[in-house]
Amino acid sequence: MLLEVRDLHVEFRTRDGVAKAVNGVNYSVDAGETLAVLGESGSGKSVTAQTVMGILDMPPGRITAGEILFQGKDLLKLKEEERRKIRGAEMAMIFQDALSSLNPVLSVGDQLGEMFTVHRGMSKKDARAKAVELMDHVRIPAAKERVKQYPHQFSGGMRQRIMIAMALALEPALIIADEPTTALDVTVQAQVMDLLAELQREYNMGLILITHDLGVVADVADRIAVMYAGRIVESAPVHDIYKAPAHPYTRGLLDSIPRLDQKGQELYAIKGLPPSLMHIPKGCAFHPRCPMAQDVCRTDEPPLYEVTPSDGERGSACHFWRECLHG
Ligand code: SF4
Ligand code: MG
Repeated sequence: MLLEVRDLHVEFRTRDGVAKAVNGVNYSVDAGETLAVLGESGSGKSVTAQTVMGILDMPPGRITAGEILFQGKDLLKLKEEERRKIRGAEMAMIFQDALSSLNPVLSVGDQLGEMFTVHRGMSKKDARAKAVELMDHVRIPAAKERVKQYPHQFSGGMRQRIMIAMALALEPALIIADEPTTALDVTVQAQVMDLLAELQREYNMGLILITHDLGVVADVADRIAVMYAGRIVESAPVHDIYKAPAHPYTRGLLDSIPRLDQKGQELYAIKGLPPSLMHIPKGCAFHPRCPMAQDVCRTDEPPLYEVTPSDGERGSACHFWRECLHG
C-alpha cells in the first residue's frame, strides 16, 4: 500500500476550547488508485490531508494519535528534514486557489524551473526547457511563449494546469488535490479533472481528491470516503455508492447533485449545518440532521459496520445501514 492513514486524531486548541477536527480516520491509497474524500467544510478532510503532507500548523494543531504510513514508513516519526525531502519529491499537493499558491512576482517558467534547479541540480537553461515541456504536457497552448508570463496573466483553468504541472514536476508517487476545480467554471472543471485523471494513470500515481462535490468524482475515483465531523462515515468503491448509499449523509450528498435530466427541479439540501467541532453531538454525530434517526442514534456512536454485498471493501457508520441501502 502506498499510503495508509491509521486511526488519526487531530485537534486544535482555540480560545473557546478544543476543536476535534479529526477523530479516528482510517484510509488508504495504492499506486494508480484514486480516492475521493468527500465532505462539507469542517468535516476534517483538508486537515487530514495537511497532516499527511506535513503542512499542518502546529500549534494550534496537534496530532494526538495515529500513524501515517507512506511507502511503509510512519511519517509522524520522521524528522522535519526528512519530511521536507518527501514533500514535493514523493508527494505533492494541489490547492483550490492557484493564484495565492503561486508566487505572483516570478514567471511561471521560473517557478516550474526552480523545481528542477533546486531539487534536481539542473542548469537554468535545462530547467527552463523542462518547464516548457511540462506546460506542454498539461496542455497549455503556446508554452514556449507563455513560460515567460506571470500567474495573473493566465485564466483560472490555465493556472490550475500550472499547479498540476508543479505538482507533477518531480514525478511524486502521491498527489493530494484539495478542491482542485472548485473555483472554476463547470466546463473548465471537467477539463481540469479529466487532465488530472489522465496524468494520474500515465504516471501511475496515487491520487487523493478532496471535494465537497460528489458530482465531480464519479468518473475519476476508484473509492470514495465520506467524512462527517472528523470521521469517515462511509467508505466504498465508487460504483457501490452511486448504486445505493449505505449512509443517510451520503444519500443527502447524492440527492443534492444537480442532474441534467431534472433541470428546473428544486435541489435537495441536507437540512441544518455541520456541528461545531467543539461540541460534536453524542451518539451519531449526524443525528440532529438525519431523516432516519432513532433513539439509539442519540446515545450510541455507530462503529464502521461492514457493508455487504460490495465490489470491494465497504463500511458505513450508521446503525441502520441496511435500511438506508434498501430504502
Ligand atoms: Fe442517521 Fe442514526 Fe444512521 Fe446516524 S446512525 S446516520 S442518526 S440513522
Ligand atoms: Mg477545505
